Amino acid sequence: FEYERARRAFQTGMSKPLKFRVHQLKNLHRFITERRKDIADAVKKDLNKVSLFETLGLEGEIDVAVERLAEWAAPRPVEKSLLTILDEVYIQPEPLGVVLIIGAWNYPWAVTLQPLVAAIAAGNAAVVKPSEVSSHSAKVMEELLPLYLDKELYPVVCGGVSETQELLRQRFDHIFYTGNSTVGKLVMEAAARHLTPVTLELGGKSPCYIDKDVDLRVACRRITWGKFVNCGQTCIAPDYILCEPSIQDRVVEEIRKCITEFYTDDPKTFEDYGRIINQRHFQRVMSLLEGSTVAIGGDSDQSQCYIAPTVLKDVTGGSKVMQEEIFGPLLPIVTVSGVDEAIQFINEREKPLALYVFSPDNKLIRRVIAETSSGALVANDCLVHFTVSALPFGGVGNSGIGRYHSQHGFDQLSHLRACLIKKLNLEDANAMRYPPHTAKKLGW
Ligand code: NAD
Repeated sequence: FEYERARRAFQTGMSKPLKFRVHQLKNLHRFITERRKDIADAVKKDLNKVSLFETLGLEGEIDVAVERLAEWAAPRPVEKSLLTILDEVYIQPEPLGVVLIIGAWNYPWAVTLQPLVAAIAAGNAAVVKPSEVSSHSAKVMEELLPLYLDKELYPVVCGGVSETQELLRQRFDHIFYTGNSTVGKLVMEAAARHLTPVTLELGGKSPCYIDKDVDLRVACRRITWGKFVNCGQTCIAPDYILCEPSIQDRVVEEIRKCITEFYTDDPKTFEDYGRIINQRHFQRVMSLLEGSTVAIGGDSDQSQCYIAPTVLKDVTGGSKVMQEEIFGPLLPIVTVSGVDEAIQFINEREKPLALYVFSPDNKLIRRVIAETSSGALVANDCLVHFTVSALPFGGVGNSGIGRYHSQHGFDQLSHLRACLIKKLNLEDANAMRYPPHTAKKLGW
């Protein structure tokens, strides 16, 4: 039903004028600022976290889109050849049509509304399906977003698996999915039936290599933040550490200090420490502890979905916690003999969404870049690339297909149409291409 409404609205052409797009983007910005408290309350209820990181990035994305839209949407002239020297040759970005956006629960606003920014900017209609798992955020989005955006073009549809599957039967012009790789494959299968292109923003195990010569105090501070923010439920969180055995105990001690500094001696009662989203995920994360040596934390409270910031040491590649994305506050340390073995370890596994390397040695960093692959590589920090809107955000291989943020999102949700406009004169110049192709005509 919502799909058909969005389709009809798109067909009127109303979403195309740049003025209209800018107006809707500004309304979306107004929604975020005016409803900051509703958003914050919902995120607190869903994940016991502060919504700062969700909306900051979103506001930045909207600002860039509003400022640069005219430039992105303009015809892009391309290089001419002798054959096209007198013609107009350019790329014209045009809207694709109706986009389906399927969001995930871990950053329920950022991963649902940032793709919407790209969809609106590119002139599309969009059906927005927030995750049912972050139910408070989904409800607020369904109730309040239509008060700010055009209701026909950008409907919000709430629901779980069956509602999403029903949506996936419709013929969309693009599907933008954020979530796990297993469901990602189902989305792509459904899309294939209509030859609908997809963007899949997936996850995986993002490694973090610590060079023994790095300032461990700084490195561990940044890693502790990147890992335990949102209780480890961040798609680009460092999943595990790779380091030499000689520094393992110092790494543990530095992280211990940071955990105490950030979350006190009692993270459970500290308001800035999050919770696991639900019982199912709580049990999943706890089961990953099996057979591991706990160096820090390890305690939990099922009634609150609380798991302490936990570090595991002397973990092996074959252990349970190394078989799937952790998506929780467990940080395993796997020891390797040096950067060669670290590179080998990474390359033996699926291509990650992010790869982190901490080292003062520029050559070592360049080597890791040259000899591995991942959605993104960040040296000497974690997570921050998400906020650099000029960088494409997305995975490679098992961590995803496609990219977004800023112009990358605009291009992803546009058709880049090839346009060639010739004049009707100078017909003699075309003589060669018309038959008969006699030797005389070809000059042979
Ligand atoms: P989730 O359970 O909220 O699922 C995501 C969406 O898929 C939801 O809207 C849900 O309704 C839908 N869905 C679930 N099962 C379905 C099915 N069988 N058929 C159709 N639709 C279905 O979220 P999740 O998958 O637990 O999210 C966590 C994963 O997402 C992690 O792997 C994480 O790394 C990844 N993630 C990636 C990014 C990114 O930007 N790359 C961002 C956030 C999360």
